Amino acid sequence: MTYDVVIIGAGAAGLMCALEAGKRGRSVAVLERNEAVGKKIRISGGGRCNFTNIHTAPENFISGNPNFHKSALARYTPDDFIRLVRRHRISYHEKKLGQLFCDGSSRQIIHMLLKECEARNVSIRINCSVTSITKDGNFTIETTAGKIESHSCVIATGGLSIPKIGVTDLGYRIARQFHLRVTDVRPALVPLTLGGDEGRSLRGLSGVSLNAEVSCGRVMFPENILFTHKGLSGPAILQISSYWKPGGTIVVVPKQHPRRFVHKWRELYGDIPMEKWTLTPSGTEGYDKAEVTLSGVDTNELSSKTMESRRVPGLYFVGEVVDVTGQLGGFNFQWAWASGFVAGQYV
Ligand SMILES: Cc1cc2nc3c(=O)[nH]c(=O)nc-3n(C[C@H](O)[C@H](O)[C@H](O)COP(=O)(O)OP(=O)(O)OC[C@H]3O[C@@H](n4cnc5c(N)ncnc54)[C@H](O)[C@@H]3O)c2cc1C
Repeated sequence: MTYDVVIIGAGAAGLMCALEAGKRGRSVAVLERNEAVGKKIRISGGGRCNFTNIHTAPENFISGNPNFHKSALARYTPDDFIRLVRRHRISYHEKKLGQLFCDGSSRQIIHMLLKECEARNVSIRINCSVTSITKDGNFTIETTAGKIESHSCVIATGGLSIPKIGVTDLGYRIARQFHLRVTDVRPALVPLTLGGDEGRSLRGLSGVSLNAEVSCGRVMFPENILFTHKGLSGPAILQISSYWKPGGTIVVVPKQHPRRFVHKWRELYGDIPMEKWTLTPSGTEGYDKAEVTLSGVDTNELSSKTMESRRVPGLYFVGEVVDVTGQLGGFNFQWAWASGFVAGQYV
């Protein structure tokens, strides 16, 4: 069977790309290894999907090339996605800092994308895991459900976080197979761990949360931090984790002084003022607890206008598999929508 476009991965970026390509009259198949589409959308935002951020700007993303994502983000904006959400009568609210969440359930977003795909005759195959891709003129895609051919092939396989919902490194492997560079990936938006005597002692604060400013180098986030039984979490820590490198330090400036924290501080540091707290995390809680994967397919390998590989015509990469990582707050979905949208105009 030959399609104009085969998209690997029915997540946020893959489904957006599929419906856009379908609008252009292309024959499209989306292949998904799980028994259901959009599993990460479903668990996102605590089940309510923080689907975009109205303040989205290029500065909210980390990439080897800080200009790469500008074009796609300008061509498909939060307003574009909000229009789609409104058209499907999905009610939503701003929780804080421009973060838009569904009032009901993240399933509404999945349902919306599926309806849009259905209206364009996109074929979606679940329980279909892609094992290899070769190119000889057309692409030949080997799957657990047989062989499929296509003119264009879009890799939308996402990142490595939350292995238990069924992630694969296929996207990175395909990139390397076609001699595209992949930058070193690591977990991001992830709790940090604290080791040694200090870490052990701070475990007693597990559950305590306080307002703080957390910085790493020149980057600073003013938000809550939360003590855990392994170290630190909470929005400010998740944000800073994307900028922290193993061996590096972070600085916490507490803005609140809850009693348990003050007590522990005196026990650990005596009379040292509680203003600026420099910590060397021992690591992160890894992909099991990470929201995203930092780095990915090197943006130098791709056209920022189309997301097509410069070396391999017809091969596209969209969403989290690309070396563009959003901060916490709806930016990762906005990148998935925008990159999927632009690729959908050219595949
Ligand atoms: C717990 C959690 C909460 C999050 N909450 C938010 C949030 O509220 N807001 C936000 O902006 N971001 C959030 N994120 C991040 C966001 O979910 C991702 O950045 C986004 O889903 C990436 O979209 P994607 O389409 O690139 O990848 P994904 O949505 O991960 O989709 C990739 C798809 O490819 C499939 N696949 C992989 N390998 C194969 C293969 N070999 N064959 C066939 N199919 C394959 C996978 O099964 C998956 O369905 C959250 C992430 C997590 C883990």
